[in-house]
Amino acid sequence: MARYQYLCPECGPWTVVLPMGTAEAARSCPACGGRSGRQWTAPSLNLMDRRLVGLRHREEAGRDVPEVTTALPPPARRRSATDPRHATLPRP
Ligand SMILES: [Zn+2]
Repeated sequence: MARYQYLCPECGPWTVVLPMGTAEAARSCPACGGRSGRQWTAPSLNLMDRRLVGLRHREEAGRDVPEVTTALPPPARRRSATDPRHATLPRP
């Protein structure tokens, strides 16, 4: 999905989220119904999840200067079964 911006001469700019490549050259304004022409804008990269942006920066920084691991990661927690019948199942 991508955000497309349109400009209504009466109401100003507005955006719509559509599948990529499906934006029309003009659409009806959702507020007044007037004809709104599509505007070409930069990709909305600033709308990316902040956590994902941080991970991407960390990945890029690690390409040239990888982080040094000094300890083992903590062991994964085992999920306990909630169904008592699971306790009777054979174990590997
Ligand atoms: Zn309008």
